[in-house]
Amino acid sequence: MSVVLNEDIPCNLCGARDATLLYPSTLTNPSLNAADFRCTSSEYGVHPPIVRCNVCSLVYANPRWDSSLVSESYSVIEDPTYVEERAGRVLTFSRNLAPFENLIAPNSPTRRLLDVGCHIGVMIELAQARGWEAWGVEPSVWAAEQARARGLRVVTGTLSDAQIPENYFDVVTMWDVIEHLTDPTAEICNVHRVLKPGGVFAIHTIDIESLFARAMGKRWPWLMEMHLYYFSPKTLSKMLAQNGFRLIRSSAQGRYLRLGYFVTRIEPYSKLLYRAFGALVTRFNLGSVAIPVNFGDLFTLYARKI
Ligand SMILES: [Zn+2]
Repeated sequence: MSVVLNEDIPCNLCGARDATLLYPSTLTNPSLNAADFRCTSSEYGVHPPIVRCNVCSLVYANPRWDSSLVSESYSVIEDPTYVEERAGRVLTFSRNLAPFENLIAPNSPTRRLLDVGCHIGVMIELAQARGWEAWGVEPSVWAAEQARARGLRVVTGTLSDAQIPENYFDVVTMWDVIEHLTDPTAEICNVHRVLKPGGVFAIHTIDIESLFARAMGKRWPWLMEMHLYYFSPKTLSKMLAQNGFRLIRSSAQGRYLRLGYFVTRIEPYSKLLYRAFGALVTRFNLGSVAIPVNFGDLFTLYARKI
């Protein structure tokens, strides 16, 4: 099957079709087959045209691949490096559970959490260990199976497929997911439906308006084919406000990575630094040490269902 950038979309935040090209496409072959799409979609710096809405400033990929291709590619995706990175993710998510506990009503009779795009279920497992009734939905068949093999409650598919009752959860989390969705507004409405009134929605994503992203310009490594939306705290807050949420707070937030993995993440920034740092990590056998990483270009936003 051959695919092309054939989906020309309006702004998902304000509906306008009035955008300015921010970064031109870097695709060398804009018409490729579906298998190639899956393999190359995680490459840094390879992306379709990225535009900024002239009305509301939302940044997004346009034109882009067909939505059906995007959905299909997520259902078949496998990522063994994520399993290897489990330790780093345990540290990252552990730090994120306490804020939810402080944000839900202290007298709430339930503590129910849903992680949308839960992948192998690290967040759910940690939440369960802290006494939450925790659920996940995950489109990758492989990742959902990994999670269920650990005894976790994970539904394969998307939130709209999952048939979750209305007003059920106290907290919904979405970690590094919203930038991949074809229709974030629709998904925010889905989250609104399953949250209880007063429930908390926590979203972690990349920040196109961060100092680091602006300084890196077209070399910002998060400009990738898999990323369809590039939010900022401002555009994301606006989308949430339009769909029944009130902002609680938003702040820059990094993550924990093992040094061995971090080294591989430096490569797109600087080849020289990558080689020098890589040699040090190997020499002193530091590959498994976990370190906090924060360039200020990732943020977490907490909002409450009105
Ligand atoms: Zn707009």
